[in-house]
Amino acid sequence: MAKKFQGRDVAVGIDLGTTYSCVAVWQDEQNRVEIIHNDQGNKTTSFVAFTDHERLIGDAAKNQTATNPQNTIFDAKRLIGRKFNDSDVQNDMKLWPFKVISGLNDKPVISVKYKGQEKHLCAEEISSMILTKMREIAETFLQLPVKNAVVTVPAYFNDYQRKIINEPTAAAIAYGLEKRTNSVRGRNIFIFDLGGGTFDVSLLTIKDKVSDLFKKKKEKVFQVKATSGNTHLGGEDFDNRMVNYFAEEFKKKNKVDITGNPRALRRLRTACERAKRTLSFAVVTTIEVDSLFEGIDFFTTITRTKFEEINMDLFNECLKIVESCLTDAKMDKSAIHDVVLVGGSSRIPKVQQLLQEFFAGKDLCKNINPDEAVAIGAAVQAALLSEGFKKVPNVVLQDVAPFSLGIDSLGDIMTVVISRNTSIPVKKTIKRATIRDNQATANIKVYEGERARASDNNLLGSFALSGLPSAPRSHLFEVCYAIDENGILTVSAYDRSSGSMNEITITNNKERLSSQEIEEMIREAEGYRFKDEKFLRKANVMNALDEWVYKLRNAVKNKDVKLKLSSQVTDKIISAITKTTNLLDDNQQSEIDVLENHLKELESVFQHIIRKFV
Ligand code: AMP
Repeated sequence: MAKKFQGRDVAVGIDLGTTYSCVAVWQDEQNRVEIIHNDQGNKTTSFVAFTDHERLIGDAAKNQTATNPQNTIFDAKRLIGRKFNDSDVQNDMKLWPFKVISGLNDKPVISVKYKGQEKHLCAEEISSMILTKMREIAETFLQLPVKNAVVTVPAYFNDYQRKIINEPTAAAIAYGLEKRTNSVRGRNIFIFDLGGGTFDVSLLTIKDKVSDLFKKKKEKVFQVKATSGNTHLGGEDFDNRMVNYFAEEFKKKNKVDITGNPRALRRLRTACERAKRTLSFAVVTTIEVDSLFEGIDFFTTITRTKFEEINMDLFNECLKIVESCLTDAKMDKSAIHDVVLVGGSSRIPKVQQLLQEFFAGKDLCKNINPDEAVAIGAAVQAALLSEGFKKVPNVVLQDVAPFSLGIDSLGDIMTVVISRNTSIPVKKTIKRATIRDNQATANIKVYEGERARASDNNLLGSFALSGLPSAPRSHLFEVCYAIDENGILTVSAYDRSSGSMNEITITNNKERLSSQEIEEMIREAEGYRFKDEKFLRKANVMNALDEWVYKLRNAVKNKDVKLKLSSQVTDKIISAITKTTNLLDDNQQSEIDVLENHLKELESVFQHIIRKFV
């Protein structure tokens, strides 16, 4: 094979998919991206197998599935960022021929037999093995070591230097460059990426910008407006539905249950996946598996309508996510110029029909290869990050903060400073108040996440602002959250009156959530919405009551005020303080309604007194 890119860095993009992975390279001489196929001429399957003698990755692993189902791993990406007890994991496990067990902190661990011994592996390790294989494929093709790669995967790997971008953004780059249209006013592009195991959507605006005075330097600016998705929705789910449907049919016909037999399930699943693909262009197809179980053959048919019926709720789920992404971007669907399909499962006619109807009959862009778009965009991004490529288009990527960033407030409330899907770079300053008289130090805790209770979110770091002046409670100081274009967050605190300041920088990886975890958290937050609303109502009313105790105590402590109050009013205040403190001390038992009614009572009885005298 000819040597390419000799003497310079190579720019490689890798799409690490649940089912298939794809690798592409930027060809500077030809001003384009080339997809690299594996030695079989295919995209590489994301399968890893363990035998008594060796470890196999890719097609070699997939080809021996039937004889070694328990030790052949696929779909591993679906386990990343999940707990063993997660209902999605439990459901997947029923259909997987390989064994998954609960590890440390309930992390799912895959158990295989390798060289005669039991070996435990986490999903990230399996993904990392596939990634190594992708690098090998690129290196064989290029006959050069690959040092840099852009990997579009929502998890972190440390094996070599790389930058991660989200998959729909990579696809948008591929689309934006493929079209090569000039658009000074901007085009709103909706990327619909339905793959094997995950569903991602992104709304981006692509703009052409002339960036210097002499109008020589042209840039294509890709600005992400919002992203959304479900890390557990894709082609495998449609396959699972078919497997369940046919296992039931087999049971009815033959009075035997195949669900406990990994080999039979695996063979049925392969037949279902093939049938599913056929149904994308035919309206009916057959399933034929010789000797599926206990020597019984399984021959049956499935229509496209039936396939759609058993998956309709999943297709509708996709549309709900599309809608939520538009809402997050505050954009009406009529403002979308192009809807771009990415990912193998976007070929399903019903999915396309529903999406087209949703966008009022708009033509869907199917002209980029849905399997390759992500890897192509990643390769362009890799070329941009590397030195020495002259023809690579000048692409500027403006992303959004994929999660909300906030600070803990009194009562463990999460106060959001930068909300999810805000364009970066961004800087926001908020005012904070001390919570005690003469408070010299304020502790600042920085969180990311979508839950109402601060401690239910991910703690990124904390620091103290000391040297605050002697002042009554509610002394104000500033806290500023700034995210730069590389996603690095700096939180600083500053007190104007004393000049004290301090800050913390949260670079990346260790503390930050992976996008998989973020999506998981957003989904969880949805599920916990009712609980969170209740928590917030209670925390807010308790903070307000606490503020009343403080004000009433000050009123009776202050000699000047006390002189103006009748003894009757003073007694009333003292008894209100006692009652409120008791309610607050007993807050676990106190009902929200009781607390809220008490707050109303305090406001109606004491508001005018406090206003008048204090
Ligand atoms: P990806 O992760 O983007 O490579 O997508 C792989 C998924 O797309 C797998 O679940 C495939 O079964 C599915 N897929 C590929 N081609 C088709 C097709 N023609 N119709 C339906 N699903 C397909």
